[in-house]
Amino acid sequence: MADQDHYEVLGVSRDASPDEIKKAYRRLARELHPDVNPGPGAEEKFKLVTHAYDVLSDPEQRRRYDMGGDSPFGQAGGFGGFGDIFETFFGAAGGGRGARPRSRRERGQDALVRVTLELGDVVFGTHREIEVDTAVLCETCDGSCCQPGTSPVTCEICHGTGHVQRTVRSLLGNVVTSAPCTVCQGYGTTIPYPCATCQGQGRVRARRTVAVDIPAGVETGLRLQLPGSGEVGPAGGPNGDLYIEVNVAVHEVFSREGDDLLATLDVSMPDAILGTTTTIESLDGPVDLEIRPGVQSGDVLTIKGRGITPLRGSQRGDLRVGVHVVTPTRLDAKERALIEDFKQKTKAPAPKLAEFQQGLFARLRDRFRNS
Ligand code: ZN
Ligand code: ZN
Repeated sequence: MADQDHYEVLGVSRDASPDEIKKAYRRLARELHPDVNPGPGAEEKFKLVTHAYDVLSDPEQRRRYDMGGDSPFGQAGGFGGFGDIFETFFGAAGGGRGARPRSRRERGQDALVRVTLELGDVVFGTHREIEVDTAVLCETCDGSCCQPGTSPVTCEICHGTGHVQRTVRSLLGNVVTSAPCTVCQGYGTTIPYPCATCQGQGRVRARRTVAVDIPAGVETGLRLQLPGSGEVGPAGGPNGDLYIEVNVAVHEVFSREGDDLLATLDVSMPDAILGTTTTIESLDGPVDLEIRPGVQSGDVLTIKGRGITPLRGSQRGDLRVGVHVVTPTRLDAKERALIEDFKQKTKAPAPKLAEFQQGLFARLRDRFRNS
């Protein structure tokens, strides 16, 4: 007999005081004594409990047991090891050597909600009210799973342990294994009158609105964790967490590189030659922009501090605008004459080969062409 840990048999922790051990033994002995409890396995269990108490109530024996010296097979340390080997062979999974019933109360699951943001929301951060389908505490039974005025009763099959003992003959002798009680599903109690509102689950499905502050600087794929905002657990167990996964919609003008915003500015040929000032509409309102005379396609104008507020920190990125000089395509005769005259006067050089232009503007230009 006995592939069970003495502490687990008595349902006490390894550092239990002699008094706690005595109390646990008295309680179990009253419950399991063969004279009062003729149920199947009760006698076996009573012997286990008594043996566990005999060992743990004697300081010297307890000390030796703690060091692995108590073995029904007379082999120091062979006790626990044997049980492990046995379970490996025969697959006595679930519950193992523990005789403690499992709790109906479990932590609720985490939930994931996706939310789509505009790029403008990312610049400053935003506030959202998000609807989530979740489980909330049943108000009828307050998570007890029982009809009001009733309570769970001790399982008659396992006598509240949540486990049933089975004696298996093996080459090594009779070995007791423990399996979860199928009548109470290992809870040790059954619920004779389940709460009608939640069908004995202690929680009900509900749609809930969760208010969430989304910080500036988030990116697509980033998950914000809201501890305790997930569903309530079975039988009113603690809430899981809620995760908000961010998706940032593609903006028709601005794209993002780190904390900087990128855009392309079309500049007419005369403005590129003569220079001008213009007002552009950034994500946080109009910004005056000066274009110096002689600006070239590919030049980048940087507007400091008009990018994205980083997720950590407060120094906003920049808005970088790549210049694209627009060459006129349809000229009337008079305009054509003007340009030819200009070409004559400036002795415009012939086209000249140079290194391929890399860097920011190449990317901006690709984007511009593809859009
Ligand atoms: Zn209920
Ligand atoms: Zn049971």
